[in-house]
Amino acid sequence: MSKERTRISASVDLAAQGKQRGFLTVPHSRNDSAWGAIRIPITVIANGEGPTVLFTAGSHGDEYEGPIALMKLADELEPSAVSGRIIILPTMNHPAVRSATRLSPVDGRNMNRAFPGRYDGTVTEMICHYVYYHLVSRADVVVDLHSGGKTLDFVPSVVMHRLEDRELMDRTLSAIKAFGAPVALVLVELDNEGMLDTVVENAGKIFISTELGGAGTATARTVGVADRGMRNLLRHFDVLAGDPEPPAEGSRLMHTPDGGCFVPSADAGIYEALADLGANVRKGDPIGRVHFFEDQGRPPALYAAPMDGMVYSRHVPGLIGRGDCLAVLATDYTG
Ligand code: ZN
Repeated sequence: MSKERTRISASVDLAAQGKQRGFLTVPHSRNDSAWGAIRIPITVIANGEGPTVLFTAGSHGDEYEGPIALMKLADELEPSAVSGRIIILPTMNHPAVRSATRLSPVDGRNMNRAFPGRYDGTVTEMICHYVYYHLVSRADVVVDLHSGGKTLDFVPSVVMHRLEDRELMDRTLSAIKAFGAPVALVLVELDNEGMLDTVVENAGKIFISTELGGAGTATARTVGVADRGMRNLLRHFDVLAGDPEPPAEGSRLMHTPDGGCFVPSADAGIYEALADLGANVRKGDPIGRVHFFEDQGRPPALYAAPMDGMVYSRHVPGLIGRGDCLAVLATDYTG
């Protein structure tokens, strides 16, 4: 057990066998609740020997495939089917999920920029600190489920970072192949400071993320990708019996080789996509334009594909601002 100090208490025994459902209690004294607390649901399912897999979702509160799939997984899995230990937090940033916002309404923090957190910090920092020092510390594999939220949408994908450690890279690569999403992506992060991804990778553990969809909702297809992917990962790591089931539609291994894949908007106006998610484009093909609805007769600003590839992500709201991510392109990964 971690001796790291924390202000968060767990109603479950993280080391016990069997299935336990309970809460992490985060003290949160406030104007409308003097001795109040935030209760974050947690499920632990353990049986015999085997790896420990930590599943988290709801780091950003407007992403829904992860919480839906993890609530179902926590309901359905029984210890008799498991070899090892599964820890499930469907709504890790519980206040943000309750308010349907990306950032925490309590302290305004982006949870996935606040790791490894502080035991005596803000609510977000306290949760990050507990997750890192008390849950990640027990885990062999960490799976943090994300989607695009209200402002981005993605081709349903499982994601890993390009890693310096070749052995860790290879083990993670074989896991994202086993997940069985339409796209398995090796991502170059533009800004990885404070991410759960970074602290887990730096600890030498396998870290897997997703971008399952987005637009502030979830679809039957994107939740289905999450459901299958998590069970496939558990089979891949021999926590569940059987072999991973590959998707009928196939899985395309891709990457974002550098920052040039990310297309930011230099304009503010109404966004018109000219290539939909999943479209294959050539360098120079038009992918979108921004209309200046307040300037009659002004030609729209045209955005072209910076490389050959697939439209992997797009801006969702009808209005776009300067600096918003307009689109992300991915190309096939050959190693
Ligand atoms: Zn997210």
